[in-house]
Amino acid sequence: MKRIFGTFAYGDGPRNGCWWDETCTILPRGPLGTDTQTDVAIVGAGVTGLSAALHLARAGVGATVVDANDVGWGASGRNGGFCCLGGSKADDAGIESRFGRAGRLAYRRSELEAVRLVERLVDELSLDVDRHSAGETMLAHRASDADAMRVRAATVSENYGFDPVVIEKDSLAAGGFGRFFHGGLTIPAGFGLNPRKYVGGLADAAEAAGATIFGQSGVDRITPAPGHRWHLDINGVTLCADRVIVATNGYSSEDIPDWLRGRFMPGQSNVLVTRPLTTSELEAQGWTTDQMCYDTRNLLHYFRLLPDRRFLFGMRGGLLSGPAAEIRARRRVRADFESMFPAWRDVESAHAWSGMVCLARDLMPFVGAVPGQKGMFAGLCYHGNGVAMGTYSGALLAALAQGKPPDMPFPDAMKTPLRRFELGPLRRLLMPAAYAAYAFADR
Ligand SMILES: Cc1cc2nc3c(=O)[nH]c(=O)nc-3n(C[C@H](O)[C@H](O)[C@H](O)COP(=O)(O)OP(=O)(O)OC[C@H]3O[C@@H](n4cnc5c(N)ncnc54)[C@H](O)[C@@H]3O)c2cc1C
Repeated sequence: MKRIFGTFAYGDGPRNGCWWDETCTILPRGPLGTDTQTDVAIVGAGVTGLSAALHLARAGVGATVVDANDVGWGASGRNGGFCCLGGSKADDAGIESRFGRAGRLAYRRSELEAVRLVERLVDELSLDVDRHSAGETMLAHRASDADAMRVRAATVSENYGFDPVVIEKDSLAAGGFGRFFHGGLTIPAGFGLNPRKYVGGLADAAEAAGATIFGQSGVDRITPAPGHRWHLDINGVTLCADRVIVATNGYSSEDIPDWLRGRFMPGQSNVLVTRPLTTSELEAQGWTTDQMCYDTRNLLHYFRLLPDRRFLFGMRGGLLSGPAAEIRARRRVRADFESMFPAWRDVESAHAWSGMVCLARDLMPFVGAVPGQKGMFAGLCYHGNGVAMGTYSGALLAALAQGKPPDMPFPDAMKTPLRRFELGPLRRLLMPAAYAAYAFADR
């Protein structure tokens, strides 16, 4: 596996201290130990791979999931638990300039369908995922953003077919949103969940439907084999499959498959979780809402009260990775938390961690056939919003791997193959300038 961060990023260091690990147990899956045949091999046991496995198994297709670590080890088991609209980093104008108005609307509707799919799965499978929050609320970090949000409300209605609720600055305190923002926009779609319970539930459901999952089974190589089949080299044994789905997102490699080389940009995101807050602490900050929230920065902060009154706060991670860089990134998150929630500056946050998200050159997710590799499919690049979009991508991939048109919206904006970034294996050098430009725009 050729990867563009050092080994620390792909080990347990970044995820040490993850709060979700203490909330539930996911049984470890054993490694693939013998040569095995399957209809569809799925690389990666996060929400994308497991949703694909569940949908394939329900259709009676043999699905074998292999993960270099284990179920939910990647971003899926350590994210902020915002099941929400999103998946691209491109704005409406950017999407419309490439795909037209109909293409923009089709993409936005698929975001909504993605949230609905998770909602359906949680209900159908009776998953206990600590669901709460009625949609999500965007909060203006400066007065000009509050004005822009009122304009944006109209586009939200057009995109998703429902009306968001504008919250004026002087109503924020009454809604429990504190005193430091300049206005808000509540989008009545999405909900908060415990991501580890969700991904563990998907894995159990996929197995119950007939799929097989192996942990500690990193794919070292994928090669074409006679009869239009694929050989996946794993732990010195071979998984032989008619079709392959690559679902590795921010943990992808340059050579699994070779086509991915230079086409994805892993980026880090950091989270902290406080101890449960008392009622008087919540009141001191004026923050009592259950809404999951984010601010209007390009390099945004995301935050929400958890059902047990702990507070989760996340933001972009560092550009470097390693033990010292991880400590610095965790300090930065803590500093931003204290400056945005000053009444809680003495509240401990014993839990903190980081993980990899994944960006595309054109800022849109990709779901589809890997060009030039018959029978190979991939779904990735959700721009830090993959709880719903990754689940949706998995369902689309399951249909594509069966040679069927998906029976759910599959917009052109998601079908366009990933373009290469400039600088190839050195493309991380592009990020400091990109982050500096975003930070400048966020002033
Ligand atoms: C800190 C953080 C907070 C986030 N918060 C949110 C949020 O609140 N809401 C939201 O929607 N999104 C959030 N995201 C993004 C979201 O978690 C991801 O988009 C989503 O989980 C991606 O799922 P996935 O299944 O595609 O990939 P992952 O869950 O990352 O899984 C990829 C898997 O592939 C495996 N793998 C890699 N290479 C190989 C190989 N060669 N062989 C075998 N296995 C391999 C890895 O071990 C890993 O388990 C967050 C991400 C992070 C890191």
